[in-house]
Amino acid sequence: MAIIVMKFGGSCLLDKNAFEKILKITNIYKDIKKIFVVSALKGITDLLSKTAQGLEDIKETDKNISLIEKRHLDIIEHIFEEDSEHYIKARDWVDEKLSELDDAFADIKEFGLEPYYRDYVLSFGEILSTYILNQYLLSCSVDSVYIPANKIIITNDEFNNAYPLYDLTNSRVKNLLIPLIENPKKDVVMCLTGFLGRNKIGYITTLGRGGSDYTSTILAHSLYSTSSDKDIKVILWKDVDGLLAINPKYVPESSLIKNLDYNEAKHIANFGAKILHPKCLEAIEKYKIPLEIRNFDKPLDDNFTQISDRSDKEQIKGISAIEYATIITVISGSLVDVPGVLAKIFKTMSKNKISVSLVAQSSSEIGTSFIVNSEDSEAAIKALNKSKFFVEFFEVKWEDVAVINITGLKILETKTKAEIFSALDKKNVKVKAISQGFDELNLSLVIDRKKLIDAINIIHDDLYEDFES
Ligand code: ASP
Ligand code: MG
Repeated sequence: MAIIVMKFGGSCLLDKNAFEKILKITNIYKDIKKIFVVSALKGITDLLSKTAQGLEDIKETDKNISLIEKRHLDIIEHIFEEDSEHYIKARDWVDEKLSELDDAFADIKEFGLEPYYRDYVLSFGEILSTYILNQYLLSCSVDSVYIPANKIIITNDEFNNAYPLYDLTNSRVKNLLIPLIENPKKDVVMCLTGFLGRNKIGYITTLGRGGSDYTSTILAHSLYSTSSDKDIKVILWKDVDGLLAINPKYVPESSLIKNLDYNEAKHIANFGAKILHPKCLEAIEKYKIPLEIRNFDKPLDDNFTQISDRSDKEQIKGISAIEYATIITVISGSLVDVPGVLAKIFKTMSKNKISVSLVAQSSSEIGTSFIVNSEDSEAAIKALNKSKFFVEFFEVKWEDVAVINITGLKILETKTKAEIFSALDKKNVKVKAISQGFDELNLSLVIDRKKLIDAINIIHDDLYEDFES
């Protein structure tokens, strides 16, 4: 393995002990070229976001800014020797950045919280933490360089949820990172801010909450495209061993998923327990770059999750759930075949920025059901009821439900589905709608919300042998 992109999340930056663990990991991977992607300190992104939204409350704003300052200064006090070179540099950096943040808040008060400002404000979390980590490594005699990711990752203009423009990013990687990586005389750790990039005209953008995972895979993608060394891996250091087959809040004795392929992982990341940023696999799948999710507290442990093109095909990988979902059904009263129903549903939802996560339509086209998050349900129903098309031809019904997703190649077998349904029948769980696309290794079942725990447990118990152990 020659190049590793590692992500350290907020829970890897908690205190002195945590910074020492990062140093230990740096030494474990000592003969490998390392790129560190760093998140904000835990809770800072939330705090920045909250502050930017509540600037009219001056007292609260001051309190939040002091808290942001204190959180960083506390870390600095603990990890550096007082008044050492790196201590001073880190403190000065915090001072300088907080004064820039102050200026940004003043602008927002004057001009309003435009999407651009929001991303700019959020970026401070990573800009502070990454610089501090870089100074820490330097203070431990690790050759390290701080690189703000907005110098490298170029994105589209979608603030808050930006998408990388790979051609432009590749050339930045080629010009700025590759020379550092390919310099045989130097062994330097590159510390890059997670979560952020910039658009073509230079405004800072962010990649969506939890976006540092995505930063790591975007970098891996661009390194693969530009480096002569194709031996690249991503490691995400987390406060858990990896992805669990089932959230322990449903099934306490759930097992770790050791191997899964990109497709399986995408399903699990989308529905799962927010361990993995759902978009981040897109960046590495094409080049089959492996990704490991490892426990920060146990860097040498053999128990971790690997996502690659290898998988154990004979298994169910995981069960996940959307607990708060609403199923909306539009039924054609007149039984006429009205063309374009789906198009109109999607258009109405997308106009209102509501994401549809599952669709089931009978082939008679009489009824179409789809799932939205419960928090969007009111807006969704309102939008349908405002549309002349739906009011005239359709009846609109809705119900609060939960969705269970069962993922793994084994789901393609009819027998597996039979076992799932017979398990559910034992607990009297009625399946209100089902969906599985062509060749898709995920089965989604819409059920009564109150039956969710029962349903997950009975599937887990009855199909126990189909899970990895
Ligand atoms: N700090 C950002 C967030 O909390 C990005 C990340 O942690 O990955 O969403
Ligand atoms: Mg975070």
